[in-house]
Amino acid sequence: MRGLFIFFGRGVLFMKPAGVVRKVDQLGRIVLPKSLRKRYQMNEGDPVEILVQGDHIILERYRPKCVFCGNMEDVSEFKERSICGQCLVEMNHIPRHA
Ligand SMILES: [Zn+2]
Repeated sequence: MRGLFIFFGRGVLFMKPAGVVRKVDQLGRIVLPKSLRKRYQMNEGDPVEILVQGDHIILERYRPKCVFCGNMEDVSEFKERSICGQCLVEMNHIPRHA
C-alpha cells in the first residue's frame, strides 16, 4: 500500500495518496479537485491553513484557536486575534490598576 507515515509527538499518522497529481502554475497555485473540496467541505473563500511536516506540505481547513488556551469552540476575533469565551470571562476578572 502506498502511503506515508508521519510521526508527531507521541503519535503516528498514516497518510494515503488522494490519487491526484496537479501542476503548480506560474503564480504558485494549484487547484484542489472538486471531489476533495466536497469531501472536506472546503468552499470558495474558506480559509485554509498550510502546515509543514519535514518536507511535506499539509492543507487543513482553518479553524481559529484561542491564542491563550488553544480552545477551538466559542472563539471570537478581537484586534485580529482569536479568544474563546472562557478566556474572555477570565480576562474580565483581572484586577485593574488605575
Ligand atoms: Zn481560551
